[in-house]
Amino acid sequence: MSDLRTTLRGQGRRMTAQRAAVYEALCAMSGHPTAEDLFFAVRDRLPGISLATVYNTLETLVDGGLAVRIPGEGAARYDPVCSPHGHTRCAVCGTLGNLPERDFTSVVSDIPLPAGFQARAVMMEVEGVCAACAGQTASRAPGGNDDAGHAH
Ligand SMILES: [Zn+2]
Ligand SMILES: [Zn+2]
Repeated sequence: MSDLRTTLRGQGRRMTAQRAAVYEALCAMSGHPTAEDLFFAVRDRLPGISLATVYNTLETLVDGGLAVRIPGEGAARYDPVCSPHGHTRCAVCGTLGNLPERDFTSVVSDIPLPAGFQARAVMMEVEGVCAACAGQTASRAPGGNDDAGHAH
């Protein structure tokens, strides 16, 4: 939390209860929440907070480099900037998963960047189908609760 306060102050921004609560909820939720997810997470603690305030707060955090906005189909998801990591994205249900922590800037260090461009981060996203969705399209796993093993 002191990180948040220091960073915001360095940017001439104030630490507010709302910013603290949204940032804390974002760090506590592992699954890349949407603004709505965060709204539901903090509204018990902050009665009177609106979804618009959550959106504004998230924008402040993203501007300040404390969170990353991950756009995609449907609502954007948010990730606190804790460590460099990539994501998997399920093309069926849209779920984002975390890849193990790894700084991808080294992976692409031999890619020539435009002159004068200063790289800060490299985003890695692997698109595919998650295990849950793959299980629905493939044949059903054995051992289910149906009558498949019933003898006649
Ligand atoms: Zn899926
Ligand atoms: Zn993530």
